[in-house]
This record gives sequence, C-alpha cells and structure tokens, in this order.
Amino acid sequence: MSQQPASAAVRQDDAALSVQNPYLLLTPGPLSTTASVKGAMLRDWCTWDKEYNALVQSIRSRLTALAAPSDPSRYTTVLMQGSGTFSVEATIGTALPRQGGKLAVLTNGAYGDRIVQIAERLGIDHAAVAFGEVAQADPRALDAALSADPSITHVALVHCETTTGILNPLEEIAAVVKRHGRVFIVDAMSSFGGVPLDMAALDIDWLISSSNKCIQGVPGFGFVLVKRDVIEACGDNARSLSLDLYDQWLTMEQQGGKWRYTSPTHVVRAFDQALIELEEEGGIEARHRRYTDNQRALAAGMAQAGFAPLLPASWQSPIITAFRYPEQGEVEFDFASFYGDLKSEGFVIYPGKISAADTFRIGSIGDVQPGDMVRLTEAVQRRMAEAGRA
Ligand SMILES: *Cc1c(COP(=O)(O)O)cnc(C)c1O
Repeated sequence: MSQQPASAAVRQDDAALSVQNPYLLLTPGPLSTTASVKGAMLRDWCTWDKEYNALVQSIRSRLTALAAPSDPSRYTTVLMQGSGTFSVEATIGTALPRQGGKLAVLTNGAYGDRIVQIAERLGIDHAAVAFGEVAQADPRALDAALSADPSITHVALVHCETTTGILNPLEEIAAVVKRHGRVFIVDAMSSFGGVPLDMAALDIDWLISSSNKCIQGVPGFGFVLVKRDVIEACGDNARSLSLDLYDQWLTMEQQGGKWRYTSPTHVVRAFDQALIELEEEGGIEARHRRYTDNQRALAAGMAQAGFAPLLPASWQSPIITAFRYPEQGEVEFDFASFYGDLKSEGFVIYPGKISAADTFRIGSIGDVQPGDMVRLTEAVQRRMAEAGRA
C-alpha cells in the first residue's frame, strides 16, 4: 500500500496517542479505534490526484472481496459521504424505481423503523412487516406477506438490529425473498466485518454499512455493496442529487475512484489502515471470534453483577448486548449515575432504546479485548456492591 511508510511511522506514536484516550467506547459506533487508525489522520491528505483515487479504488475492491467472497466480480462498491443513515437513504432512494416500486420492510427495532421513515419521506410505496421489539424477524411472516402482495418489488432487512442486539435470520429471509423473485436490501451497518456473510452465496442485491462500525474506522462515510447489473439499471431513480448512489457509482467507475463533491480524505485514510488491520487480525472470521469472546466475557461478568440480558442467547449478536435494569430491591437503579461512575472508571456504555423494558446497552465491537470486558464487569460488580452497602 502506498501509505505504508506513514502508518509505520505512526505506530511508534501509539503510546503518546493513547494517553489522549480517557475511556474505552463500548458504544456500537463510533467505537474504540487503534492508535494507528487515528494516526493515519495526523497529516493533510490531498484529494485530487491519482494516488488518492487509486487508494479509493483499492478500498472499493477490498470491500467487494470481503462482502461477496465467492463471486466478487458480480458486485461493486459505492462509497458515500455522511453517516450510515445517509447511505441507507441513498440506497432506498436509488434502488426503488420512480414508478411501480413497493418496499416491504421487516421491522424489529429503531433501524428498521428508520427505513420505513425514509420510504415515507421519499414518497415510496411501502409496507412494514412488524415483529415488535423483542422478537426475531420471521421468514414465514415474510413469505405470507409476499404471497399476499405481488406489488412488493423490494424487501429490506436490518441484519443486526442494534436497538437490542438481535441478530435476524439472514439466510432464511434471503431464501424467501429470492424464492419470490424480489430485490433484497440488507442494512448490515453494525454486522458487516464482524459477522461472516457472503452476498453472492445468499444472492443479496444491496448491502449497506459504514466506516465506523466493525471495520473499526472513524465516522464519516458509508458504503454500499451492490450487484453490478442491478445498479446499472438504476440510472433514473434517485430522488436526491447528493444522495444519488447511481451517479456516485458512475463517477467512481468512470473517473477511477473520484467522489462527487468533497470526500472525507482523512476518514478514508483511517479506513484504509483499518482494513489493513482487519486483514492482519485474520479477516472477518477471526474478528467474529474476538467479538464473540468479548460478548461472552461481558455476559458472564454482568450476570455475576446481577444483570440479566434482554435477549435469549440464541438471538444474541456478538455486536451489542442489552441488559435489563436490576429488579428494584432496596437500591434504586439510576442509569445516569451508573453511566457516570463507569465513565470515570474508563468505560463509556450506551443507554437503552426500546419501550418494552428498561434497558441499557454495552457494545463488544471495536479495538476491545475480552480482558477489557473483564475489567469493565469487575468495575460494575464493585459499583453494585457499593450501592448495596450505601
Ligand atoms: C449505526 C446504524 C445505522 C446508521 O446510523 P448512523 O447514526 O446514521 O451512522 C443504521 N442501521 C444500523 C443497524 C446501525 O447499527
């Protein structure tokens, strides 16, 4: 890689850089990144020339190889400025035709609901197939919905619903969508890079993720994997100029890695370094093992501190875990003070996001090891013991 000398130099500064980090982010993006990923942003990077464009092309083709390992040549990658939602909105607004399209959205949390909101806002005909907040998306319900409504052309699913940490049954749902001959869009924002999947094997048409989740980069852009022949047919669809994914793709294809409008150069450099480190770790399978070990250490330590997970283990992703507030006994559980105490011990956790139960969430992704989870849960155990004595 052309920037190898810069990243090698930066690695020597790891210790100096980590001093600036008072806590671990156990939030599901932004998340804790390595010093060398942050270090890639410590200089000014030009955007106009061939060197930068070649880096963008290399990132695109490495992402395609990661997402569709069994047949990457059928797929292409588009990068899009903004947070992950911008890429979801760009995908929905570019994938659905202006006339005659209808989107079914499987919902079991806030991110599925957000796709419905996007369809509403863009004036796209849609139907939600809703499962509440604490149940997996059910392939049989989708099968029935598709049989009942032949006007549905596209189906959208959130792979890991980050609201609760639930992992939806991607393979089974892909099989139903494809049996009905519909276009399949997957929001794999919080799972891609941390949970193995093969778009080509599952025949997924579109898949969306972003720079600041399991690839372990910093926030600033999203990326969309799509079948070449599918995006080639989407030229007239976009409802937005800046979120026109077809136009962005065509520009990157025809001008060798050029973005339309200012690209987040520093974030792209950091992302390149993050991809190098994913490979050094052993790829997605190895990262999945580490995240799984993190999640197990977390769940075991939290159980010792008296916290039960919201979900049964068979639905639980290795990405983020929702815990119920403890039963109200002699001690009242106050999340704000719990959060503040853990933050002062070096751990930032995440509030809950569902109405069905009082929960908070702890992420297990990022530059985080099982030992960090043990240290965290020991801090939780101490904190709960002190609260009990008070
Ligand atoms: C993080 C995330 C998004 C995008 O959220 P942004 O805040 O826009 O980055 C979308 N879907 C899921 C499932 C996510 O976890």
